[in-house]
Amino acid sequence: MFDKILIANRGEIALRVLRACKELGIATVAVHSTADANAMHVRLADESVCIGPPPAKDSYLNVPALLAACEITGADAVHPGYGFLSENARFAEILADHNLHFIGPKAEHIRLMGDKIEAKKTAKRLGIPVVPGSDGGVGAGDDAMAIAKKIGFPVLVKAAAGGGGRGMKVAPTEADLLLALSTASNEAKAAFGDGSVYLEKYLGKPRHIEIQILGDGRGGAIHLGERDCSLQRRHQKVWEEGPSPILNAAARAKIGETCAKAMREMQYLGVGTIEFLYEDGEFYFIEMNTRIQVEHPVTEMITGIDLVIEQIRVAAGGELPCAQEEIVINGHAIECRVNAENPVSFRPSPGKIMQYHPPGGLGVRIDSAVYQGYVIPPYYDSLVGKLIVHGKTRGECLMRLRRALDEMVVDGVETTLPLFRGLVREPSIIDGDYHIHWLEHYLAAGDTKSS
Ligand code: ADP
Repeated sequence: MFDKILIANRGEIALRVLRACKELGIATVAVHSTADANAMHVRLADESVCIGPPPAKDSYLNVPALLAACEITGADAVHPGYGFLSENARFAEILADHNLHFIGPKAEHIRLMGDKIEAKKTAKRLGIPVVPGSDGGVGAGDDAMAIAKKIGFPVLVKAAAGGGGRGMKVAPTEADLLLALSTASNEAKAAFGDGSVYLEKYLGKPRHIEIQILGDGRGGAIHLGERDCSLQRRHQKVWEEGPSPILNAAARAKIGETCAKAMREMQYLGVGTIEFLYEDGEFYFIEMNTRIQVEHPVTEMITGIDLVIEQIRVAAGGELPCAQEEIVINGHAIECRVNAENPVSFRPSPGKIMQYHPPGGLGVRIDSAVYQGYVIPPYYDSLVGKLIVHGKTRGECLMRLRRALDEMVVDGVETTLPLFRGLVREPSIIDGDYHIHWLEHYLAAGDTKSS
């Protein structure tokens, strides 16, 4: 096992990793920018090192500063959290070159899944169902129109290097294809320095369902069921739940086993999420995330397995926590990502938290790094905290979530709490009847009502 882990992140995920380390008896090093000197992860870690000024590129993404922090403190492993350097294969390699362990997958797997065209090819080869589309990138010499017609309109133009929904354009008809191709490619070139794009069938009203997997890097892998993350705004997840309200045990076991089998074949190491769109009973692979995800607590609540602890254990060469048959899905969990944003315009609202009262009681979990008097800096994401609620059934979970949301107080900054208080009372949400565009429609309808 590792002796000392440096946590190359901030906010709630830094705290989450720190808690896992404490339970495992591993010493912790927090790193922080000058803007985060008073942050909770800094206060609770055994040691801390300031690694630079507020902009992430000068601090949390500053590899030489992170290496120096490891050297100074004698850390033997680095946990990247999510975002920042968590899916940077080069970073994993640089750590290895310095005899440091990267708590994450093998660099080759990070690189493979980071290229969406290669990821899709790999998924297909491993027997994972994919969205019908171009077999690879669509270049200048290719007859994009012929490929698109074969797929059938509407088609979606996607960036190979895409992320966060950028570099994605829908072409509803043949007449829209050329413009969609050039806009997506230009956007991708500007955002990722790589303009390659590919085509996919555009699915009308799919759900976003993802499978959590865990591998030991030696050919052992299990799946821990699914999360339904269909409630999205601008391709960003807002509300996540598990199990999916529309999946039965047989469908879960089938797709879960397909994913676990693929991971065994790859000899995948660590936690990972295989993301699908799901429509008319069919799964379509869209991408794989090779890191711990924001919404991982949903799975922890319904399986009782601490994913961060297990992630650290397998990274240190340890065994998987149990056999596939021993994983039991228990009840239902929902996570709400509470952001410091105006609940209507979604404009970020950084500033000082004047009053903070997190809800409590049976089945209520808060993963947050804020406290009364804390100042949310303007430089990073606007997450105030994640409210995760567990119940024996989905009905009990919704009832508890309603109560917890009403109890929660965050004053001084604007938050998205009012949005969630509305959502938890919406008939379509209560019925579990929603898809990936539902939230955008709901928000647009709200705008019309209030104007
Ligand atoms: P990113 O890496 O930018 O997050 P993804 O491939 O994960 O891109 O897609 C993000 C979101 O875009 C999905 O959750 C879904 O809402 C939408 N999307 C992606 N592919 C399709 C598709 N073929 N048809 C319809 N919607 C899609």
